[in-house]
Amino acid sequence: MTRLLIMGPPGAGKGTQAVGLAELIDGAHISTGDIFRANVANETELGKTAKQYMDAGKYVPDEVTNAMVRDRLKQPDAESFVLDGYPRTADQVIELDAILAEIGAKLDGVIALVVNDREELVQRMIKRAETSGRADDTEEVIRHRQDVYDEETAALVPIYRDHGILHEVEGTGTIDEVAARIGSVVDGL
Ligand code: ADP
Repeated sequence: MTRLLIMGPPGAGKGTQAVGLAELIDGAHISTGDIFRANVANETELGKTAKQYMDAGKYVPDEVTNAMVRDRLKQPDAESFVLDGYPRTADQVIELDAILAEIGAKLDGVIALVVNDREELVQRMIKRAETSGRADDTEEVIRHRQDVYDEETAALVPIYRDHGILHEVEGTGTIDEVAARIGSVVDGL
C-alpha cells in the first residue's frame, strides 16, 4: 500500500505527473479538480456549488471539498492512492489527517513539484488554455490562481517538511524527466 500526495503551483504539471504516479504505485488517482469538473459537467448540486468558485479561480469552501474527499477515500479502490489537488489549505491538512486516522491509514510521502519561475507557469497555462476548454483558463483567472496558491497552499510545504515526509522535485524539464525524478523518490520510500 502506498499513499501519496502530489502538490505544486498551477501549471507545474501536477495533474500529468499524478496520472503516471498512480499507475506506478497501482493506486487510485484522486484529483479534486477532476471530480469537481465531472460534477460541473453532470450539473449535480455539488457541481453547481463548485462552479461559481472554480470559474473565478477561487477555492471551493473546505466543508464541500473535505466531505467529497472523505467519501472518495473510503471507496474500496483507494487503498493506495495519489491525491492531486488536495489538501490545498492548512485546514484541509488537518482534515485529511483526521480522515486517514478514521480509516487507519497514513501518508507515505508528499511530492512537491518546484517551479520557481512564475512567468513560465503562467505561459505554460496560457498555452494549455488553447486546448483545455476550461472556463478557469483565462489569463486573468490563471494569474489569480497563482496568487491563491502563494497565499494559501505554499504554506503546506513547510508543514509537510516538519512531518518529515516531504520530497521536493524539480518540475522544470520534459514530462519524462520530471517523471523519472518522481520515480526515484518512490523507489526510495
Ligand atoms: P490546477 O489546474 O490549478 O492544478 P485543479 O484542476 O486541481 O487546478 O483544480 C481546479 C479548481 O478546482 C481550483 O481552482 C478550485 O476552484 C477547485 N479545487 C480543486 N481542489 C480544491 C481543494 N482542495 N480545495 C478547494 N478548491 C479546490
